Amino acid sequence: MHVMKFGGASVKDAPSIRNVAQIIREHLNEPLVVVISAIDKTTNSLETLAHLARDNKGEEAMAQFRKVRRFHIHLIHDLFGSEEVAGVQENVRQFFEEIERIVQGILLLEEFPPRIYDRIVSYGELLATRIVAEYLSVQGVDTQWIDSRQLVKTDANYKSAGVVWSLTQANISREVSPLLQPGRVFLAQGFIGSTTDGHTTTLGREGSDYTGSIFAFCLNASRFSVWKDVPGILNADPRIRENTVKIDFLSYEEAVEMTFYGASVIHPNTIKPIYNKQIPLHVKCFKDTSLPGTIISDRTNPEVITSYIQKKDQAFMVIKPKDFSFMEERLMQEIFDHIYKSGLKVNLVQNSAISLLLCVDDKPVISAFNSLLLDRFTVEVTQGLTLNTVINFTVKDLKEASDAVMVQQNGTKLFMVK
Ligand code: ASP
Ligand code: MG
Repeated sequence: MHVMKFGGASVKDAPSIRNVAQIIREHLNEPLVVVISAIDKTTNSLETLAHLARDNKGEEAMAQFRKVRRFHIHLIHDLFGSEEVAGVQENVRQFFEEIERIVQGILLLEEFPPRIYDRIVSYGELLATRIVAEYLSVQGVDTQWIDSRQLVKTDANYKSAGVVWSLTQANISREVSPLLQPGRVFLAQGFIGSTTDGHTTTLGREGSDYTGSIFAFCLNASRFSVWKDVPGILNADPRIRENTVKIDFLSYEEAVEMTFYGASVIHPNTIKPIYNKQIPLHVKCFKDTSLPGTIISDRTNPEVITSYIQKKDQAFMVIKPKDFSFMEERLMQEIFDHIYKSGLKVNLVQNSAISLLLCVDDKPVISAFNSLLLDRFTVEVTQGLTLNTVINFTVKDLKEASDAVMVQQNGTKLFMVK
C-alpha cells in the first residue's frame, strides 16, 4: 500500500485541491492512505486566534474566527458546484460551532491551559480533510474520512506530543488495515492526535510529514510519498545559496542529518519510523508530477553532492571549571544532567582540557541553566549565531569555516558563524 502526504501549500485554493484530487486518482491502483495538513496558512491563523482569546481580546478573537470561517466558506464556493455547496457547508458547520464555543469558553476563563491551544489549531486539519474528502466523493472516488485523533495516541506533552506507538499501532491495525483496497482512499489529518483520555494533541509545527510516516510504519506501506512545491530535495536553500542542485537519492542517514540540522523540507521526526521498516520516502512535486523527485532510502546518490544547511538562532557556550579541573567525564556528566533538567537543546559538543563547548538553541532556558552552574564554573555565552552544516564537504568548504567559532568534523562538518 501507499501513503501520500500533501501539505498546506498543495491544497491552498480550489485549483490546487483539484490538482491534488487528480494526483490521488492517478494512484488508485494501490490501497491509499492520504494525509493532509491545514489549508495554506490556516494553522497560523488559528494560532493567532488562540493567542487573542488567551489575551482576552474578545472582539479581535471573534473577528479572527470569522476570517478563518470566511476563508473556508469561500473556498467551498470556489471548489464545488452550486448544488453541492450547501451540503458541504453543513458538513463543516459543526467544526466552526466547536471552535466558536471553545473561544467563548476561554474568554470567560482566567487561565489558558496548553491543551486549549492544541484543540484550536487542530481544526485546520479537520476542515481541510473534510473539504477534500467531500470533493473526492463528489468526483466518484470511494473516500473514507478518518479521524487521526482516534488513531494516533500520544502523551500529554501538548504542542509537541510524543506518540504512544503500541496503542497507535493497535488502532490503525484494527480500524484501517482490514478495509484497505485498491480504488479506495482513506483521508486522515496530519499533525493531530489525542491522549489516552481523549484530549486533542499536536505533534509539533509542520508535523504532518511525521503523521504520514506513522501511518506508513503501522500499515507496513511499500512506499510513502510527500508532495511539495519544489522538484525534490535541494542541496541548499535557494534563498541562501546560488546554483543549488536537486538530489536524486538520499540515504536515510543523510536525510535525518539534513532535517535535524535545519533543512525544512521534511519534518525531522519523519525519518526514524520509515527507516525502521525500510520504507522508501519519495519527495515529489505536485506542480509537475512528471519530475522524478528525490528518493530517500538505503541508497546514496551515485555522484557525491555537497549539501549546505543552516540552523539559525543558535548560542555558543564555553563552560570552564573555576578551579582548573580537567573537563573529565564526571564533570561532563554533571553538566549534562543540568542540561537535561533545564530543557536546553544541544546541537553540537566539543571538549578540551579544561573547557566544554556547546552549540545550543538560543532560548530563554539558557539563563536558568547558567545559574545552576555558576558556583563552580565560568560560563561565557555568545548569542545570535547560525550553525552551518556541510554534508560531504570539500577542501573549499573547509576554508569557509576558517573564521568559525567552533568546528566539528567527521563525514559531516559543522561550524558556527555570526
Ligand atoms: N498545519 C500544521 C502546521 O502548519 C502541520 C503541517 O503543516 O505539517 O504546522
Ligand atoms: Mg504545513
